[in-house]
Amino acid sequence: MSSTAFRNYIDGQFSEPASTFDSIDPSTGLPWATMPAASIADVDRAVEAAHRALRSGPWAAMTATARGKLLVKLGDLVAANAGRLAELEMRDTGKIIRETRAQIAYVGDYYRYYGGLADKHEGAFIPIDKPDMEVTVRPEPIGVVAAVVPWNSQLFLSAVKLGPALAAGCTVVLKASEDGPAPLLAFAELVSEAGFPAGAVNIITGFGHDCGHRLTSHPLVARVAFTGGPSTARRIVANTAENLAYTTLELGGKSPVVVFADADLDSAANAVVAGIFAATGQSCVAGSRLLVERSIKDDFLARLKRKAEAIVIGDPQDPATEMGPLATSRQRERIEAIVAESVAAGGRLVTGGARPVGKADGYYYAPTIIEAQDQALACVREELFGPVLSAIAFDSEAEALALANDTPFGLASGVFTSNLAKAHRMARGVHAGVVWVNTYRAVSPLVPFGGYGLSGLGREGGLDAIRDYTRSKSVWIRT
Ligand code: NAD
Repeated sequence: MSSTAFRNYIDGQFSEPASTFDSIDPSTGLPWATMPAASIADVDRAVEAAHRALRSGPWAAMTATARGKLLVKLGDLVAANAGRLAELEMRDTGKIIRETRAQIAYVGDYYRYYGGLADKHEGAFIPIDKPDMEVTVRPEPIGVVAAVVPWNSQLFLSAVKLGPALAAGCTVVLKASEDGPAPLLAFAELVSEAGFPAGAVNIITGFGHDCGHRLTSHPLVARVAFTGGPSTARRIVANTAENLAYTTLELGGKSPVVVFADADLDSAANAVVAGIFAATGQSCVAGSRLLVERSIKDDFLARLKRKAEAIVIGDPQDPATEMGPLATSRQRERIEAIVAESVAAGGRLVTGGARPVGKADGYYYAPTIIEAQDQALACVREELFGPVLSAIAFDSEAEALALANDTPFGLASGVFTSNLAKAHRMARGVHAGVVWVNTYRAVSPLVPFGGYGLSGLGREGGLDAIRDYTRSKSVWIRT
């Protein structure tokens, strides 16, 4: 993998774009690369190629075992090229090199996991009550998949879609976000090197309103796998309405982290800080709502303040950097407006709330903690997708649970306590797709992931994800 010329990958070819756009380096605010904007015609070509590959040719004829081997090879190539992919993601999104390297280190595992599962996804024989009839159930690939991902963690968010989709025998058109598409366009080279037949995997980038809209409303698309924000998700659902494409949605969150007085406070403080400030808070599972037992609130907030103020903010390339810039200037402006509104409405700024001194270039914003009296403030209710933690005190376990669930979102949650029974009660009661107890942000290809409520529909990861890319065909045979 060597190229830095970014092109769309359609029907097994890297194609020259009709138009391009600049990609901005968020650490300088300056353009650093030219990206291909897929046109409507490019989208159509990609979907038609995926549809042809699904129906005939080498991909359609391939056994599940052979598909699995290709996926394992792709996983190995991702691992072998992790350094370059990490650098591209850092440059294009501002995510610090330590974090891009750490995340890409396990992306290959997802391809290998689904590669291993490809020929273990079995059908069924149904013993119906008719002696002259046999019924079998064949899991068949659902069809052409439109995978649409946001700019953050995109190699990972693509792997949880491409892995099960390709294992199931589907073909895919993957749309990288217009904000930071470099790592996925480079990843296309690895798809080509792994030897996937033309049309099985197509990777493009372009803008949501035209290219994304066309892709998710294309009549030949049978399945949409989307990760992004809830307002885009509503548009995607409208796009799919005409063709009734089966759709899964991985959306945002306002994840609560509940810290009880009996927790190991040192370890809880480290987890809370990493839970919100990793990736500059631009993570769907960011633990952005701290619920802390009132008896330890002042002590705990003082610990968090010390840790937040010690975070080294700076150049994403520097291995010593602990927090980088936000990905876009509009994202920083939105966060500034919500923080200002929340403080004006009575939130107490514990730390941050401003652009860091000496960081005039780039979209930097200081780690911020706001203490709120209740959940009415905008910073408590809205997903900021930035380094802003809202903290609220509670007096009882019942109140902690009620506060945790007082949100339309339900993606992730954290519970810190040394009381095992309390941990189980909270895990049962929290309305979220993931509950991390005395830890935060652990992931594995083996484990399902997804949200409740406005955080989404469907699950990615684990065995069942393959089922979501198949449909059952029942075959009745009179014998
Ligand atoms: P976004 O919703 O703005 O964009 C996501 C993708 O949708 C992009 O590729 C964009 O081009 C495309 N898009 C936009 N409009 C479209 C349209 N009309 N039709 C089709 N496609 C369209 O999200 P973002 O700002 O890039 O990412 C941040 C959001 O993603 C946050 O809400 C975050 O929580 C969420 N997210 C969720 C998860 C998860 O797994 N649950 C993971 C990461 C990010």
